[in-house]
Amino acid sequence: MLGSAVLLLNQNYTPLTTCSARRAIIMVWLGKAEIVESTGLVVRSVTMTFDIPAIIRLLMYVGISYKWNIQLTKQNILRRDHKTCQYCGENDGPMTVDHIIPRSHGGEETWGNLVCACSACNNKKGNRTPQTAGMILIKQPKKPNIRTFLFHNKGHIHSTWRTYLKIY
Ligand SMILES: [Zn+2]
Repeated sequence: MLGSAVLLLNQNYTPLTTCSARRAIIMVWLGKAEIVESTGLVVRSVTMTFDIPAIIRLLMYVGISYKWNIQLTKQNILRRDHKTCQYCGENDGPMTVDHIIPRSHGGEETWGNLVCACSACNNKKGNRTPQTAGMILIKQPKKPNIRTFLFHNKGHIHSTWRTYLKIY
């Protein structure tokens, strides 16, 4: 619950980024932001109860250099790749995250080096690069654009976000 995403709006109501509910609650508690929409859920500490927000708004305007931040997680890699194996196109069954350049070859934990792969392709590729394994990526992975990312994952965003993200 505290890990669920909260939409963060600038002081002028334009979307800036998403953050964890934990961070959002802290920002509200520190007086840096206010709750625009609540999820209706609460989290309790020993002495206090906090609303879990769906959307918060900064009380001070920040410059547009603020970048959208989509967390690099296994779940987000699979979402970006639409749970489709990036080697064979399979989209059924359990998916894994493959390091294109294996960690043992210096491959990093980045959007450009991680792709969704079916277990068969992951096993076949093993600890090799695509070149040595003779496997070709369907497309070169990159960090997803936040609007595209959210648009393709409507089910995963709080319904109240749509007004602010202009997703219909
Ligand atoms: Zn595959």
